[in-house]
Amino acid sequence: MTDRATFFDTKIEYLKGVGPQRASLLNTELNIFTYRDLLQYYPFRYEDRTRFHTIEELTDTLPAAQIKGRIRDWAVVGEGPKKRLVATFTDHSGSMDLVWFHGITYYEKFLRAGAEYVAYGKPLAFGVTYSITHPELEALTPENEQGGTFQPVYNLTEKLRRMRFDAKAIGKLVRQLLDMALPHIHETLPDSLIEQYRLISKAEAVENIHLPRSQAWLKQAERRLKFEELFYNQLRLIKNKLVHKTAYPGQVFRHTRLLNRFYKELMPFELTNAQKRVLREIHTDLVSGKQMNRLLQGDVGSGKTIVAFLAMLMAIDNGAQTCIMAPTEILADQHYYGLKAFADQLGIHIGRLTGSTRTKGRRIIHEELQNGSMQIIVGTHALLEDVVQFKNLGLCIIDEQHRFGVAQRARLWNKNQDIYPHMLVMTATPIPRTLAMTLYGNLDLSIIDELPAGRKPIKTVHRYDTHRLEVFGFMRQQIEQGRQVYVVYPLIEESEKLDFKDLMDGFEAISRSFSKYPIGILHGRMTGYDKDFEMDRFVKGETKIMVATTVIEVGVNVPNASVMVIESAERFGLAQLHQLRGRVGRGAEQSYCVLMTGYKLSKETRTRIETLVRTNNGFEIADVDLQLRGPGDLSGTQQSGIADLQLADLAKDGAILTAARESAQTILEEDPHLVLPQHTPIRNQVEVQRADETNWSRIS
Ligand code: ADP
Ligand code: MG
Repeated sequence: MTDRATFFDTKIEYLKGVGPQRASLLNTELNIFTYRDLLQYYPFRYEDRTRFHTIEELTDTLPAAQIKGRIRDWAVVGEGPKKRLVATFTDHSGSMDLVWFHGITYYEKFLRAGAEYVAYGKPLAFGVTYSITHPELEALTPENEQGGTFQPVYNLTEKLRRMRFDAKAIGKLVRQLLDMALPHIHETLPDSLIEQYRLISKAEAVENIHLPRSQAWLKQAERRLKFEELFYNQLRLIKNKLVHKTAYPGQVFRHTRLLNRFYKELMPFELTNAQKRVLREIHTDLVSGKQMNRLLQGDVGSGKTIVAFLAMLMAIDNGAQTCIMAPTEILADQHYYGLKAFADQLGIHIGRLTGSTRTKGRRIIHEELQNGSMQIIVGTHALLEDVVQFKNLGLCIIDEQHRFGVAQRARLWNKNQDIYPHMLVMTATPIPRTLAMTLYGNLDLSIIDELPAGRKPIKTVHRYDTHRLEVFGFMRQQIEQGRQVYVVYPLIEESEKLDFKDLMDGFEAISRSFSKYPIGILHGRMTGYDKDFEMDRFVKGETKIMVATTVIEVGVNVPNASVMVIESAERFGLAQLHQLRGRVGRGAEQSYCVLMTGYKLSKETRTRIETLVRTNNGFEIADVDLQLRGPGDLSGTQQSGIADLQLADLAKDGAILTAARESAQTILEEDPHLVLPQHTPIRNQVEVQRADETNWSRIS
C-alpha cells in the first residue's frame, strides 16, 4: 500500500527524459504532476498503423493512410503563402506527392533522394495524383517496417507543440514509465467482479489504453477502465446515500385517516399503475423511520401533482405540516387552486405565499405556520425566507426542481430543527436513466412512466415555411370547430432585435389572414399587467390565437387550446420543443403540433424534428437529446459532478453504468464498511482516491 502510493506519487520531473523544464511544462499545460497523472493521461484517439496501403490503393475516403516508399526528388514551388515543398514519393504501384507549407528548410535538409520512408497522413486526390499535406514522415527502420500498432494520440496544447513536445514525445515518456510501473499496478477491483464481467486486469488495461496491442485489446481496456470509473462513481454516491440514511432519522407517518377517506370517496379518477407504484415507494419511505430524499420524474401531464397531494395527506394525518414550492408564481397559483379544491373538502387549512402576498396576509400566514394551524403552504422562493417558520414541517415538495439549486433545497430542509423534513423533488424535464443515476445517484428515484388513460396523443407534423398558407388553413378549420391556437416564435437574447421583428411580422401576417378573429400577443417586453391581461383573455377563450415567445413555456394550462405551431423550430432544442408541445393535449380534443422550418436543415436538426414527430415520450426524447448533445449540455446539469467522468460516456455506456451501479449496490449492502478481505482492493482504491483529492484541493 505505502509502496504503491510512493511510486505513483513520484514527481514527473524524475522520469528519465523529463527534467525540471519539461516537468514545469507538463504541470502547467496538462496538469501532470506525478507518475500517476501521466498514466491517467489517456490518449484521445488512436492512429491505425497496423497496415500499409500501396499508392494504387489510395482513395479520397480514407481518413488516413500509411505508405512505405522512396523519395525520388523534390522542389520548392509557388510564391508567398502558396510557397511549398513538393516531394515525389513512389512505391511499386505508383507515385504521389508529399507537400509541406511549413518547415520547408527543415525538410529540404532531412530528405534523402532514393532513401526509404514511411509516410502517414490523409490522402487527397488532385487530378490523377494523390497527395498528403504535412505527412508524418520517418525513415524506414526494422521496427516500423513491420507496421506498428495502434498509435496513441494525446491532446496537446499549442504551447507544447511549439516547444517540440508532441504526441510522439508524450508517447515515448508513457512507454518508458509503463515499463517501470507495470509491476506496481495492483488490481483495483475485487476478483468476483473481474470474473463476473470478464474484465482484463488493471495493469493490462493501463498498458493497452496507451499502447493497444490490437483493436480488440483496446476495446477491452476501455471497457475495463470505464467499468472501474463508473463503479467508483456509483460506490461513492450509494455510500453517501447509506450514510445519510443512518445519520438522519425521519418522522414516521403511520396513520392514514384522511388519506383513506380521500382515496375512497373523493379521488376524481383512478390512479394509473405508475402512480400507484410511486405512491407505494413514497409510503415505504415515510414509515421507514429514515428521512426520505426522493426524486420523482414524470413527463408533462403524467399526474405528479395528485401523487404529491396524497403524500401530503400522509404527513397531515400524522400531525405534520407540508409545503410545496414552485419556481414561478403562475405555477404556484395553479397548484394552490388545484390543491385547495381537494383540501377544502377534507377540512384542511391551506395557504399561499408568493412575492405578491401583501404584508398583512404574510404576517397571518407566518403566524399560522408557526402555531401549526396551517397544514399546507403553497409558494415560491418566498417560502425560503428565514421568517417562515413551522411548528412541525414534516414533508417538503419541490416542483420543477431543476430550477432550484442545492442550497435552496438545503434551506427548506433546515426549517425543522429536531428532525429534518422528508423531501420529495419533482421534475417534468425527463432525464435519461443513466444521467439520473450519476447526477442524482444519492437520491432515491421514482418514475411515472405512464400517462392517464384516455389521453389522445398529440399529433406532430413537420411543415416547411413555404407551406404556411396550408397551415393557416388548418388553423382556421380548428378555430371554426371552437379550438384555440398557439403560434410560438423563438426569442433568443443574442439576436433579440431580429427575433422581435420576426415575432411582430408574424403577428401582423396572422392578423391580416385571420381578421375575423381576435388575436393576442405575449412576449417578455410586456409589463406583468399586460401579460396577465392577454393571458386571461386567451384562457377565457376571447382570443382565438395567441402569438407568443417561449414565455408560455411554463405553467400555462388552457385545455381548449389544441394546436401548437412552432415557427423556426430548427432554432429550439429538443427538450424545449417537447415542453412547448406539452401546452396542448390537455383537453378532450385531438391536439396537434406543427413544426415549421426552412428547407435547409442540418443533419442534427433533422434528427430533432423527426424524433418529435415520431414520439411523445419525454424519456425517449431525453435519450436522443443526450446522444445528440452529450451530457454536459443538458439543461440543469452544468454544475453537476458528471465532468469527473474521464472515459465513460453516459450517452453510450448505459449498460456498463447499470452493471457498475448494481455491483456497487450489492457490495455495499453486503459489506457497508468494506471490511471483508475480498473487498480490500476497493478499500485501498477509495483511500488512494481520497488522498488524490486532498492533494488536488491543496494545489488549486
Ligand atoms: P404533471 O405531472 O405535468 O404535473 P399534473 O399533475 O398537472 O401533471 O396532471 C395533469 C392532469 O392530469 C391534471 O388535470 C390531473 O388532474 C390529471 N390526472 C392526473 N392523474 C390522472 C389519472 N390517473 N387519471 C386521469 N387524470 C389524471
Ligand atoms: Mg406539474
